[in-house]
Amino acid sequence: MPQLKCPLDQSHLVDSKTSGEESSTCDQCDGVWITTTTLESMEDNAASDDMVKGQRQYGKHVVDHECPHCGDQMIRFRYRGYNIEIEACPNDAGFWLDKSEDREIRDVMKQRGSNLGRAASAEKSWHSARRGDKVGVFQRLKQLFGFN
Ligand SMILES: [Zn+2]
Ligand SMILES: [Zn+2]
Repeated sequence: MPQLKCPLDQSHLVDSKTSGEESSTCDQCDGVWITTTTLESMEDNAASDDMVKGQRQYGKHVVDHECPHCGDQMIRFRYRGYNIEIEACPNDAGFWLDKSEDREIRDVMKQRGSNLGRAASAEKSWHSARRGDKVGVFQRLKQLFGFN
């Protein structure tokens, strides 16, 4: 398998595998590539009712970033209607999350936290994830979408 390149700065992505989930990260910009298989296995584990499969994409538009996997232009969209935009391979190979999405995820966590009275625990998980290594993005995603 050829080495994947970051769609933003063309750095080589570094494979990382944590608790059975595969991802590739960019050391340059901290972006993360996750495969569709990985995301779907995360979604299969989701217990919450608002995680309905097939309602993942909102506000799709094509962006000028090449998919690390196939080189086609990626599609940017809102993940399940949250205020988070991520990019996806047009051929369903996987998803790209960049640093700004990281920040938006944190904002959404704060919103959710205050809505649900869970601000303290959301903040705590965020900060403990921040101290971690590259596992962090998945932990935050899981917490955000209620996978754990
Ligand atoms: Zn990069
Ligand atoms: Zn692709």
